[in-house]
Amino acid sequence: MKHAPGTPGTVCPYSGVRADDAEFLHPDDRKAAIKMVEHAALEDIQDAISDMFAGVARGSKSLSYKPAPRRNRPRPRFGRRDLMRLLVCDCCGRDYGVFAIALFCPDCGALNLALHFAREAELVGQQVDMAEALGKDRQELAYRLLGNAHEDVLTAFEATLKVAYAYCIENRPPGAAPGKPVGNDFQNVDKSRKRFEEFSFDPFAELDAQELAVLSLNIQKRHLIGHNLGVVDARFVQHAKEAKLGETVELVAADIRSFAMLCRKVVRRIDDMLAGLPLPPSVVQNGEETMASPTETIGDLSPEGTAVGKWICMTSTDGLPGHVGENSLVEAFPNLSIDQLAEAAADLAEDGFVTLTHLISERLPRVHVSEELFLTFDPPYMGSNPVADARQLIPLILPKDSVEVPALHAESGLPLRRFNPAIGLILSKVGEGRVSGAWAQGYPTPYFLLVDSDRVAIKRLARQLEG
Ligand SMILES: [Zn+2]
Repeated sequence: MKHAPGTPGTVCPYSGVRADDAEFLHPDDRKAAIKMVEHAALEDIQDAISDMFAGVARGSKSLSYKPAPRRNRPRPRFGRRDLMRLLVCDCCGRDYGVFAIALFCPDCGALNLALHFAREAELVGQQVDMAEALGKDRQELAYRLLGNAHEDVLTAFEATLKVAYAYCIENRPPGAAPGKPVGNDFQNVDKSRKRFEEFSFDPFAELDAQELAVLSLNIQKRHLIGHNLGVVDARFVQHAKEAKLGETVELVAADIRSFAMLCRKVVRRIDDMLAGLPLPPSVVQNGEETMASPTETIGDLSPEGTAVGKWICMTSTDGLPGHVGENSLVEAFPNLSIDQLAEAAADLAEDGFVTLTHLISERLPRVHVSEELFLTFDPPYMGSNPVADARQLIPLILPKDSVEVPALHAESGLPLRRFNPAIGLILSKVGEGRVSGAWAQGYPTPYFLLVDSDRVAIKRLARQLEG
């Protein structure tokens, strides 16, 4: 915060300039304020006149006075339809409205850029949920909605980088050379990096090589979807090995969510830089493009174990336990040796995030993901919370004697990637004989039955989850 909230004066949310409150008063707001006072005054006058005559005919036989029922005119209400974005500053709690995107809280002057981008990501998440809720017969529309949501991530990301860059340019010491027009530079990682180099700042410094690759791939996808109806062209094939020339590019909800999460990470760093906060260390060392060793950790896990767990979490499209492809695992971590990967897998197994099957012929064991991994890794990396989702599912489940899992999924309205970890948590409380062992596409089981002991266990789980 730059100013104590509630003190006189307003910070311009776009430029950061501080001036008297009156400077920021819109003519329509002034008119609205006058109308409110006018209404209140009229109400008071009406009350006063009504009181004057009360009891005027008391004791008279020929006169009677009965006031007509009071008709209160409704209080005028005003709202600004042009300021669609309503936010609550995460530093001082002040609520305010702005046109599209802004940098500062008008009250305390705190940097709110990351808050704005978080709202964009939330809106994108809602679009994805809508697409996922569409039935199989509306696949084309679902693809179109996902495409739009995907495009919106890049649009918001580009706009955010532009706004931040323009602010940096604007606040350079006097006499600096005028900035060159930005063009499409902020649709490209390398060009964006070059732009911010002027201010000795790398917005992408917290992304590791893999995250950068995912980000760049998604930017390329956006070009395909925006300019080529999603049909893979020759240039895209060079970026993505699995893409086939002339086919529609694959786009799943999980891609869009991880794209948005990566962009949020970049925007958070920009927010910190503009606010003058100390920045988290860069994962790229000495300007070399080679990926440094992972540094992030979760719980007791090693940095390598955390990196592998994070990768499994972010690449899972259905949130189901299951086997991890060894080849894609090896490809995803070019900087880790097979021995290091095997150790990272053992590290994850130690905490029950995966189970391992050792094969005599292979150094790397077969890795089987367990539900526990999503419970722990989803909140930081997917922005979703399986515990909260499970709490939503429990009231839908308890009244039933037998639960059709796909129907429950439809009823819950949750995206599949979020539904499965949540239902997995609940299934762990249902007696084994009552969970169908049959295979179901996309779900851990097609159906399960509930008896009293299961209900007791699920209710106990609900109470634990509340805590
Ligand atoms: Zn504030």
